[in-house]
Amino acid sequence: MTIITLATHYEIEDCIHCGFQFGLPVEFVDRRRQDHASFFCPACRKNMHYPAKSRIEKVEEKLRRKTECCDFYTTRTVDLQDDVAHQKARVRGYQSLAARRQRELQTAKGEGDA
Ligand SMILES: [Zn+2]
Repeated sequence: MTIITLATHYEIEDCIHCGFQFGLPVEFVDRRRQDHASFFCPACRKNMHYPAKSRIEKVEEKLRRKTECCDFYTTRTVDLQDDVAHQKARVRGYQSLAARRQRELQTAKGEGDA
């Protein structure tokens, strides 16, 4: 004679409508917490569901927020790099203009001395 022992773990649930306590397999509870689908109380036959976000949903939401934050700062960094390049070009332009004016002054001074 062979004896097979199977173990199923149950989570005790309280009906939100009638207060009846009943056991649900842990795997079933995990699935319902993930998909938020309804299930029925075996006593009053009214439906129940788990509206709270699951741990996976919370982690996904946190990841989405971090990704959005990262995207924002990446875009901001590119904008600032473009601004720095623009300002450097302006500085080069002013330096070039200043050098030209200085040469013109030296030329005018040289002509005035002659
Ligand atoms: Zn009930």
